[in-house]
Amino acid sequence: MSADCLFCKILHKEIPSTKVYEDELCYAFPDIAPKAPVHIIFVPKEHFASSLEITEAREKVVGHLARVAAQVAKEKGIDEGGFRLVMNTNAHAGQTVFHLHLHLLGGSPLGGMV
Ligand code: AMP
Ligand code: ZN
Repeated sequence: MSADCLFCKILHKEIPSTKVYEDELCYAFPDIAPKAPVHIIFVPKEHFASSLEITEAREKVVGHLARVAAQVAKEKGIDEGGFRLVMNTNAHAGQTVFHLHLHLLGGSPLGGMV
C-alpha cells in the first residue's frame, strides 16, 4: 500500500470501483473514463510504480495480468473482434497513475497506434 496511490485506495475500497475480476494477485475494474466500449484496468495487489520496476520476482504477476486480461476479453466476447493490452510508462506514454496497470481495450475498431 502506498498512501497517496489512487489504485491502492481502490484496492483498499477507500475509493469505490466495480469488481470485474479478482484473485490473490490482482484486481480488475472498469476505467472511469473509457476510451473504448470495453475498457478495464488490471492492477497487481502489490504496489509498484511501472514497468520500470518489474523485477524477476514480479515477472509472474505481470504475466498473470496479461493472461487474466485475455480471459476477461473472452468473457466479454471481444476476443474474436480483437483487443489491445496497454501498459503506459511515464510521461510520454501518458501514464497518470503510478501503480503498474494493464488496460484492456476493445469492443470496436481501435485505430492504429503501433
Ligand atoms: P494511465 O494513463 O495509463 O496511468 O491510466 C490511468 C487510468 O486510470 C486512466 O485511464 C483513468 O481514466 C483511470 N482512472 C482514474 N481514476 C479512476 C477511478 N477512480 N476508477 C477507475 N479508473 C480510474
Ligand atoms: Zn498503489
